[in-house]
Amino acid sequence: MKFYSTNNTDLRVGFKEAVFNSMPQDKGLYMPVEIPHLGDKFIHNLDQYTLPEIAYHVAQNLLGDDIPANDLKALIKDAINFYAPVVKLEDNVNVLELFHGPSLAFKDFGARFMSRIMSYFLEEGEKQLDVLVATSGDTGGAVALGFLGVPNTRVTILYPKGKVSDIQELQLTTNGQNIRALEIDGTFDDCQALVKLAFTDAELNAKFRLTSANSINIARLIPQTFYYFNAYAQLLKRGSSKVVFAVPSGNFGNIGAGLLAWKMGLPVERFIAATNANDTVPEFLKTGVYQPKPSVATLSNAMDVGNPSNWVRIADLFKEDPEALNALIAGYTYSDEDTLGAIQELFDSYQYVACPHTAIAWKALKAYQQEQQVGDIAGVFLSTAHPCKFPDVFTEQIAGEIVVPAQVKELEQKDSKAVSLGAGFDEFKRYLLQNS
Ligand SMILES: *Cc1c(COP(=O)(O)O)cnc(C)c1O
Repeated sequence: MKFYSTNNTDLRVGFKEAVFNSMPQDKGLYMPVEIPHLGDKFIHNLDQYTLPEIAYHVAQNLLGDDIPANDLKALIKDAINFYAPVVKLEDNVNVLELFHGPSLAFKDFGARFMSRIMSYFLEEGEKQLDVLVATSGDTGGAVALGFLGVPNTRVTILYPKGKVSDIQELQLTTNGQNIRALEIDGTFDDCQALVKLAFTDAELNAKFRLTSANSINIARLIPQTFYYFNAYAQLLKRGSSKVVFAVPSGNFGNIGAGLLAWKMGLPVERFIAATNANDTVPEFLKTGVYQPKPSVATLSNAMDVGNPSNWVRIADLFKEDPEALNALIAGYTYSDEDTLGAIQELFDSYQYVACPHTAIAWKALKAYQQEQQVGDIAGVFLSTAHPCKFPDVFTEQIAGEIVVPAQVKELEQKDSKAVSLGAGFDEFKRYLLQNS
């Protein structure tokens, strides 16, 4: 499969180049030249396949001959080695739990697949790949654990000091091996600025083979389509063939993957884009004006994005028929107060503990079902992270109900190591050069 830039459809690159460069020179995003329809026979029989089988079929159709069948199968088996259950809370209200991977967030799908694709394409004798990643919390953990022990790669994570939760910090700092953590005395934006400057620094680029692992990489988007198909498979088994998905959204990669799955033939009635106060997309759906704004800090901080980077992909998917976009996506936006209320309601109604991002998606789904009177369609809201990653938002009573997974308890036994740096570029650059 070839990929084009959303800024220039004549620019065509192969999968390997799209993966290693993340972004074309023209600053568009890569999209597949053709989006294959998977065929009604496959879709209607999805309930007969397992998650790895579905993943292989989807990836094979999208990538074509880029990776031989057996290699692709092995790669998927290794990357997607956890499950994504659809848990029923009440009739037509289900939660798709995407937090059963090693970092306890849905980003494991993208990060694990991408790390293995990169390692696969690194040919023998090629220079070590240096992955630089800035994180506000979840991305760093998923990328670190995705690349941990992957040969010929090294990951440098930059995170803002004092601004990630204890569990998130442990996920960044206890890995050792080919992963190193830098605690930056600044904000997430400072971390991101350092990474961006490194990519434009001639001396660093001459010395290292730098790559980024951010959510715009096409190799992170593709594996996120897998769980939409797999969720539909689980619904089919329970006799539902109509579904709406409510997706907690920040950079709009997750929902973008859902829309890609829809383009590939997955019959979805509606996607619900659920955001916190960072409401650029819900505003656009309401007014038709896309107006990016500075992000504001909220309790669901993985969605604090004022200018969602994947939006251009979604616009590109609908460039022939912008009205179809409005017919397919509904937008909802909630305050921190709403979020806390939703967490409490979820707990009171179903004894279910949801992370703040997930709670927003639930609230949006309920609002949509009430407004549209579509109670007969299976509603699925996506749970993007395990609640134990965000302990500070819960009341004591709810926090006491959180079952901390075994892998977190193991982290607490390990040595935690981070290098502390200021937010200036010279210091960061010196660190990279002296620790090569
Ligand atoms: C990254 C993240 C999101 C936002 O996902 P996007 O693909 O950026 O829209 C939502 N919830 C959690 C927990 C996340 O880590």
